[in-house]
Amino acid sequence: MIANNALLLLLLVLAVAGGWTLARGGLRMDDAGRAQLPSQYYRGFNFLLDGEEEDAIDAFTEALSVNEETLDTHIALGSVLRKRGEVDRAIRIHQNLLARSHLTVVQLHQVHLELARDFIAAGLYDRAEQLLRDLSDESPDLNATAQRHLLEVFEAQREWSEAVVTAENLIALSLSEDPLAAGHGQSAHQLRCHYLCEQAEVAITAQDSSSARQYYHDALRDNGNDLRARIGLANASLLEGSSKEALEHFEVIMASGRACTPELLDLLSRICADQAGDSAYSAVLQRYYEQQPAPLLALTLAAELEAEKDRAAADDFLRLTLADNPSVAVATALLLSGLPEENDQPERRILEQLTQNKQGYACDHCGFTGQSRHWRCPGCRHWDSIHYLGAVPQDAHV
Ligand SMILES: [Zn+2]
Repeated sequence: MIANNALLLLLLVLAVAGGWTLARGGLRMDDAGRAQLPSQYYRGFNFLLDGEEEDAIDAFTEALSVNEETLDTHIALGSVLRKRGEVDRAIRIHQNLLARSHLTVVQLHQVHLELARDFIAAGLYDRAEQLLRDLSDESPDLNATAQRHLLEVFEAQREWSEAVVTAENLIALSLSEDPLAAGHGQSAHQLRCHYLCEQAEVAITAQDSSSARQYYHDALRDNGNDLRARIGLANASLLEGSSKEALEHFEVIMASGRACTPELLDLLSRICADQAGDSAYSAVLQRYYEQQPAPLLALTLAAELEAEKDRAAADDFLRLTLADNPSVAVATALLLSGLPEENDQPERRILEQLTQNKQGYACDHCGFTGQSRHWRCPGCRHWDSIHYLGAVPQDAHV
């Protein structure tokens, strides 16, 4: 923090001194700024000499008069303070800019945007929302940026229906080829889908499965393979007693190419528990494995074969898979199977740990790890960026 303060102070001193020099050279500068400059400037140095860096920053900021040349410096300074967590001071700087009457409409919009960002950082969502809605109406150039920030406001407050409307506005803007609409952040199509799934989950908590279904089906509008919506529909079908329909949704998940995870196998096992015939689960697992030869699926299918037939059948199957899909987890399971039942040596415990599905989940975007899937990363707040670590089909060389 001390190094950051020193750098910030240096930049401020240079900015103020630079502005003052320009003014003395006869370039444009407002009279008030010219009159105030020396006293505020030296007051800042006094604070600095007394070791009061925070007060020194405030004094230099006041010394930096507001005009066309220094507006960007003020905005940048407020932004730096906001990123350092000093939101109150950022708000003070940006509100001080608004008090100046000579700002052009474009500059006024720029300052409103910064102030809205400050309000979001401070958790003052109502005030941010009002500013952003006005910006969206009044500034075609900042419309897409304002809508992106509105999404932050609605996500933070879990106002999912408002978030859906805003995501649709962004989709419409991207269709009109506004490059900023698609420029930063995640795709508005993907965000809309997650907001609808959030609404569906709220409906399921309220035991309104009919509304939940509508939200899930709406979520599939842009991507019929969406994993979250398909899992939701399969669960909703199970709740309503229709395992056949649940299996149809699961078949779409299988064909979509998304990696198999323990939670998907749990869902499949619940679906098949309601199906006619004892081998329904292993039959679907077999087809799943043919589409996606992952160790997790091979081991699950082997456990089913052992339950239905015997251990020899399970071992034969695992050995066959190794030819085309070498895997440490599968080879370890075979070694473990060869150990005598009464063996209680440490190597058994180590081998057992290797075959258990404890790989967990990790975020592709920020590296956050955990033992369960989050649809929104708790670390970086990205949607659907968390993936199962045990999904690599061939892990023999890992
Ligand atoms: Zn993350």
